[in-house]
Amino acid sequence: CGIVGYIGTEDAKEILLRGLEKLEYRGYDSAGIAVANGNGVNVFKEKGRIATLRDAVDNSKQGTIGIGHTRWATHGAPSKVNAHPHQSATERFTIVHNGVIENYSQLRKEFLQDVTLTSDTDTEIIVHLVERFSKEGLSTEEAFSKTLGLLKGSYATALLDNQTPETIFVGKNKSPLLVGLGEGVNVVASDAMAMLQVTNEFVELMDEEIVIVKRDSVTIKTLDGEVMTRDSYTAELDA
Ligand code: GLU
Repeated sequence: CGIVGYIGTEDAKEILLRGLEKLEYRGYDSAGIAVANGNGVNVFKEKGRIATLRDAVDNSKQGTIGIGHTRWATHGAPSKVNAHPHQSATERFTIVHNGVIENYSQLRKEFLQDVTLTSDTDTEIIVHLVERFSKEGLSTEEAFSKTLGLLKGSYATALLDNQTPETIFVGKNKSPLLVGLGEGVNVVASDAMAMLQVTNEFVELMDEEIVIVKRDSVTIKTLDGEVMTRDSYTAELDA
């Protein structure tokens, strides 16, 4: 399983699909991408191979920002409905996640009694919690940090918000996640290999950190909002 994200100037869907192909070796049962198109987010997902997903993706140019996922099901059967990305009820927020949320049913009971879930995954509650806290008045960054702070278990996760354009929010705990740095382009990946097509300069994330990824900046913070600085390294790998 794996995660990719891209924010730059090229057609995001092709870079995401190529990135996911590089992560195939990690194993997966389904795959999906979400691409921001300026007005909203287009989601494509399929059970089975990346090649199947590729056939399902609309070929028109869609946007230069997106996230992608290969799933290894832990909660809910391998299926199109359970494949990521998952969206909030208003479709404002879109998320991908690798890992396991151990307390998802408690969180659902505590915060999401009124929300109808559309999948059998543990993941889906993450995106509903972000929407809930955002409706209560938190900024997206605050809602995301608050949500991640409530989770027990492991996550590498990436979030798109329709109303915060040109931004990918990512978070990590006990699952690998890297941010890749380019010129006017930044990327996210579970494994550097997936994004060598864009850059070989990476920053490693620590547990319980979030990153606000924009085209020209990458800001790492703790869940409490403290800004962290960290040197990047050059990945010595052949693309
Ligand atoms: N636990 C999540 C699910 O079953 C994510 C699995 C993964 O790491 O791909 O959908």
